[in-house]
Amino acid sequence: MKFNTKLIHAGISRDKATGAVNVPIYQTSTYAQSELGGKVEYEYSRTGNPTRRAVEDLIKDLENGVAGFAFASGSAAIHNVFSLFSAGDHIIVGNDVYGGTFRLINTVLKRQGLEFTVVDTRNLDEVKGAIKYNTKAIYLETPTNPLMRITDITAISEIAHEIDLLTIVDNTFATPYIQQPLNLGADIVLHSASKYLGGHSDLVAGLVVVKDSKLGDKIGYLQNAIGGILGPQDSWLLQRGIKTLAVRMQAHESNARKIFAFLNENENVAKIYYPGDPDARDFEIVKKQMNGFGGMLSFELAKGHSVKKFIESLKIITLAESLGAVESLVEVPAIMTHGSIPEKIRLKNGISNELIRLSVGIEQSEDLIEDLEKALSRA
Ligand SMILES: *Cc1c(COP(=O)(O)O)cnc(C)c1O
Repeated sequence: MKFNTKLIHAGISRDKATGAVNVPIYQTSTYAQSELGGKVEYEYSRTGNPTRRAVEDLIKDLENGVAGFAFASGSAAIHNVFSLFSAGDHIIVGNDVYGGTFRLINTVLKRQGLEFTVVDTRNLDEVKGAIKYNTKAIYLETPTNPLMRITDITAISEIAHEIDLLTIVDNTFATPYIQQPLNLGADIVLHSASKYLGGHSDLVAGLVVVKDSKLGDKIGYLQNAIGGILGPQDSWLLQRGIKTLAVRMQAHESNARKIFAFLNENENVAKIYYPGDPDARDFEIVKKQMNGFGGMLSFELAKGHSVKKFIESLKIITLAESLGAVESLVEVPAIMTHGSIPEKIRLKNGISNELIRLSVGIEQSEDLIEDLEKALSRA
């Protein structure tokens, strides 16, 4: 089955009992057992639920893995994956990962005895140099948020596999429509499904897929033991969202290309970060590992312009955290999504006070460009 067909037909797309073409919402906590001590498929909904299983099988097939898992949020998914490790284990982390991942690492996981080294995963020597006797994994995002930096997943996986480290990739920005990390050598891929996979700003969810069944057993054990599962209603809604991923991603991409071309020519814009920029440092890696450029871009206004005026002049593009939905969303990382990072570290990582992140929606591109044009001239 080809990818776009899997979106519609993988997982459980036809109910065995009734023929319903959509998976029913099994709103139940428990399941009647016909004999004492017999073998049952479902026993309790933290452990397993058919609606959740449908979306778990779907993402497993989309990412080409052997097992999928659904969680109450992307953060819960990330926590579940880090729960594979024990006090004293060391993990190498990309320096431009999601702010909430840094918060989890710095204020929760370090307290519990995990050790981390933060590196620029674009620089393979820096990654190799960070490996210690107790290193267990390399964790990264590509493209990153908000600077759209690109890491070569295959090259990192090769370094990792030489000494049996796990490669873990947060694939939220690209989605499996554009990038399939397990095919590129990664061991675990995870998502905030609150973004492109859900796609409509109506859901918070997380997904994990693994390439190896032993690893799948471990993640499944932890999912049940920790219990941060996705409920049946949200599992259903997420599957509904994923069905249209291909058409949405094509529309996001088409709009983002046009907006990039517009911003690139606009004298009020000083700098643009976009995976589809042919002049960007790692465009060769983009072409090698991505099947498109996605719908995210960031930019800086030219000197003397007011970020506040620009943002507040926008009429269609909505000021909000989050991304990856049908409506265009704009935010200022320094104040919003990355506000919890100390300013010195944030500036060192390249996230200036003037940086603006745009999640390009699927509205008519002319309306978006007009909105941007007017706001830029007022800024
Ligand atoms: C939003 C996001 C997360 C966290 O997911 P939640 O669903 O908000 O908990 C993790 N990684 C990336 C890249 C994100 O954008």
